[in-house]
Amino acid sequence: MDYPRPVQNLIAQLSRLPGIGKRGAERIALHLLKADDDANNQLAQAIRDAKSRIRNCSRCGGYTEQDPCEICAGSRRDQRVLCVVEGPNDILTLERTGAFQGVYHALMGRISPLNEVGPEKLRIGALLERVRREKPSEIILALGADVESEATAHYLAEQLKPLGAPVSRIGLGLPAGSSLESADEVTLSRALEGRRKL
Ligand SMILES: [Zn+2]
Repeated sequence: MDYPRPVQNLIAQLSRLPGIGKRGAERIALHLLKADDDANNQLAQAIRDAKSRIRNCSRCGGYTEQDPCEICAGSRRDQRVLCVVEGPNDILTLERTGAFQGVYHALMGRISPLNEVGPEKLRIGALLERVRREKPSEIILALGADVESEATAHYLAEQLKPLGAPVSRIGLGLPAGSSLESADEVTLSRALEGRRKL
């Protein structure tokens, strides 16, 4: 006997979430069926709120309720040190280390010919324009350690070099093939400290 259709649907929706397999989705669905309406409504409302109130900062691309975000608007941040990351998640990851006091620029992806993602689909044009306008004193590429991230870093270095700002790359200590998100805070802080000039 299978679950009634609405429960099947709930399980199907839950199992689309990252890190939740079929079994986990079943457990969560059964938990939600048992939970009282208040708790479930709060969960549904939290999902709606997060999605409707959070947008991407027009300057750095990070998640924010206000545009520009707190980091971009922050007078205590070093606005001249620019850290380039693949996505808004990486900003959150780096912020958790507390090791970086500059500002960010999220590319919203990385160059991936296999997935038909070329430089024009990323925020690379916006980055170059921003570098020309803001003239940062240092640009740090904080990309992952896999093949596509490597290729993206090389492309960026080529594009950025003529603009004059020193470009460095974190990566020391990051295991090959790994993303920023998968690194722990200590490794990430060290990778940041040990950045090398390109
Ligand atoms: Zn911002």
